[in-house]
Amino acid sequence: MADLLIADGAVRTAQGWLSPGYIVIQDGKIQAVAVGQASEALRGSASRVLNASGKAVLPGLTNGHTHFSQTLMRGLAAGRPLMRWLKELIWPLQAAMSVEEMQLAAQLGLVENLKCGVTTVIDHHKVCTTREHTRAVIEAAGEVGINCVIARLWADLGVNAEDADAVVGEMEEWYRSTKEKANPTSGAYLRFASGPGTPWRCSDETILRMHDLAVKNGSFTHIHAAETKDDIEMSLEKHGETSIRWLDNLGVLGPNSQVVHSVWVDDEEIELFAERNALVVHCPVSNAVLGSGIAPIPQMVEKGVRLRLGTDGPASNDTQDIFETIKMALSLARVHSLDAAVLPPAFLLSTAADGKNIQVGAPADLTVVNLEHERAVPVHDYDSALVLCCHGTDVDTVIVGGKILMEGRKVFSVDETVLLQECSQAIRSLRKRAGIE
Ligand SMILES: [Zn+2]
Repeated sequence: MADLLIADGAVRTAQGWLSPGYIVIQDGKIQAVAVGQASEALRGSASRVLNASGKAVLPGLTNGHTHFSQTLMRGLAAGRPLMRWLKELIWPLQAAMSVEEMQLAAQLGLVENLKCGVTTVIDHHKVCTTREHTRAVIEAAGEVGINCVIARLWADLGVNAEDADAVVGEMEEWYRSTKEKANPTSGAYLRFASGPGTPWRCSDETILRMHDLAVKNGSFTHIHAAETKDDIEMSLEKHGETSIRWLDNLGVLGPNSQVVHSVWVDDEEIELFAERNALVVHCPVSNAVLGSGIAPIPQMVEKGVRLRLGTDGPASNDTQDIFETIKMALSLARVHSLDAAVLPPAFLLSTAADGKNIQVGAPADLTVVNLEHERAVPVHDYDSALVLCCHGTDVDTVIVGGKILMEGRKVFSVDETVLLQECSQAIRSLRKRAGIE
């Protein structure tokens, strides 16, 4: 007997679209995928049948980079470039954030990701004032129920530098205490990773210690690098080489490293990404909003660089709508290369799903998107309709580990009305405490 049958939808598989197709889910995993109508016997034996008529069923989407603490800081940049925006607004607000405010920001950020079809999110966790702030994110992730990686942000050089031994010790504890930790809501996972802020705020010794510890624990290093021209200058000043070469010379650039942004990289650095099998996390909306530049993604794809998409924090995007990010990735690449054939929709959808496929034995992490609306009808081609015509608000249902976390846009774990009210109240007192009127 199946726990869940998803019937009558268009199902995206590695072999192409099954339309109509159906998916059988049992014990959190995909038990069968097939084209056509599900039989009456199958419908009758399933505990639950989800009608996906007029909808596309995708492998769950991944948001490869965000900062939940910034959920309360949307729309604040007001034309400031990256460093002024950080120094004048974001850093003071993050420093003043209470544990309760962190929990609200994380809840809202997670709900926003879920409602946009994200089943796995990487939070580059910026507010590390106390361990309670980090526990607040863990709790929120448990409540909302999507897969979550907390890449604990740290810096051991410059303003507000942390003591290296203390950070390493803290990470050892997080890895130990969250090993195999399943999410109480959905059975989804919660993991930790090393999250050095930027190359110019980290010492050689500590990034290596943190990287080795991450790899030993089956995890990775997740770092902002080569985001702006200033960023390159600061890396040259501090380390005498560009961010990417510094990471490579230390031996950090590799299959266990995720380099976020990588806007200002040269051909040799693109070759290095490919040779070392490092992952680049592309955040096109944030790069555009902050005027940082356009990452050379088509060149990276040509060289076989592993790629993931991220929204970046809501303060520099200013949403966490992964659909907007997918379309912006396509748009920026095409306007930059003057080539309408680069980054086709099918490639971008696979990238947004982080290469996952709807196949037998895979975890049942699925995103169901409504295509029967004024922006998508008529549907000539599913991939184009999803990438060019849909928004995050078209996501109807999200399933993680076989559990339905949202259906008909209703999130089951959180009272959204109360959450929105609490977040609106919280930002007023937070602004006051941070001295931002
Ligand atoms: Zn970021």
